[in-house]
Amino acid sequence: MNHPTYLLDRIENKDSHTLAAYREAGGYSALEKVLKSMSPADVIDEIKASGLRGRGGAGFPTGLKWSFMPDPEKDTRPRHLAVNADESEPGTCKDRVLMREDPHGLVEGTLIACYAMRCQAAYIYVRGEYRLPYQRVQAAIDEAREAGLVGENIAGSGFSCEIYMHKGAGAYICGEETGLMESLEGKRGHPRPKPPFPAGFGLWGRPTTVNNVETIFNAPFIIDRGADWFRTMGSEKSPGNFLCGISGQVERPGVYELPLGMPAREILEKVAGGVWKQRKLKAWIPGGSSTGFQRPETIDTPMDHDSLKAMGSMFGTGAMIILDETASIVRSARVLLDFYEHESCGQCSQCREGTQWLAQIFRRIEIGEGRMEDIQLLEDLANGMAPGKTICALSDAAAIPTHSVVRNFRDELEEYVREGGHPDYRQGRVLEETTS
Ligand code: SF4
Repeated sequence: MNHPTYLLDRIENKDSHTLAAYREAGGYSALEKVLKSMSPADVIDEIKASGLRGRGGAGFPTGLKWSFMPDPEKDTRPRHLAVNADESEPGTCKDRVLMREDPHGLVEGTLIACYAMRCQAAYIYVRGEYRLPYQRVQAAIDEAREAGLVGENIAGSGFSCEIYMHKGAGAYICGEETGLMESLEGKRGHPRPKPPFPAGFGLWGRPTTVNNVETIFNAPFIIDRGADWFRTMGSEKSPGNFLCGISGQVERPGVYELPLGMPAREILEKVAGGVWKQRKLKAWIPGGSSTGFQRPETIDTPMDHDSLKAMGSMFGTGAMIILDETASIVRSARVLLDFYEHESCGQCSQCREGTQWLAQIFRRIEIGEGRMEDIQLLEDLANGMAPGKTICALSDAAAIPTHSVVRNFRDELEEYVREGGHPDYRQGRVLEETTS
């Protein structure tokens, strides 16, 4: 593919994770520029002008989010940045590449974000399974501290900032920003009701901004090369490149750097080599499991926030999952709902009970015990769970794929009810434990 790249440009360099290699590639020049010649407000203005949108799921404008932090003259409480490296959305595995291969990029971005928001400390919350990425980021922080780039009076500028690492223990819900903050505070990862929002009442009740790894990773490039350069890539309302993790039944699954707005078909066919074994496309999930099962006719949709929203889905984490003509949508939905049931924190009855019921209903349709009225029941239950009816969006994340199956693949649901479930069950090939 012939398009400008930057996010993954350094990862092929020898020992790309070390300070020496990062410096060799021009690393920390953006931090130097910020400390020498930019005020915190200048940094926020540049990020705003770039149009960078969060890469963690919601796609919220990053500069605007940073500007929500209270004026330090009026609010003198200590303030924090929390970097969300929990990356637990099924299908999503992009941040681990950045942390593992180019951890100083994250450290530099973290320092720039902290300077802009005048945070004295940042916390990088990494999912526990990411052992090597965790070690690499920790080593990068240690190297940067040794070089006077983390800690007191960074590079003699008067700006001081600490970066702490924190390992999660495997709960999906700790990737939700308020669940993450509870977990960082040493409590059970139960999401908090909003408002108050983190910028006013975050970690330990102090002003806090939570940003995804890839979002933060973009900051040094924007500072170094300018907002106008950033806007030359991607689409007008979603500028820049993104890391697209494409998985499932494709020839070449992987993490690719692509401009926002590239049609999903081009990504599937030209970047990932097409559907596995040249089979037909049955469904695709655009940006992580909570963005729903989409019909193959929608595969020409550009991969950007507004185009996917207009199509009735979401950009999410930009993690495409491909299902070929042999896949069972019912079984795939049941696997997803099992996941959401397992990961519900249990605070809201709609989510605690709803995810369980949805999983049970998909399960009975899969094994041939479904009834026609179950299809309406799935829809009614999902309507009771979302949108915005619970403390956090996990309930929505379970309801959206459910709605998408009923809306887009009703024919398969009806067929399973009529014919006695998944072909494995119809033909007596019952599996003890099934996966999609
Ligand atoms: Fe917990 Fe689910 Fe409520 Fe979120 S929606 S707070 S995961 S019960």
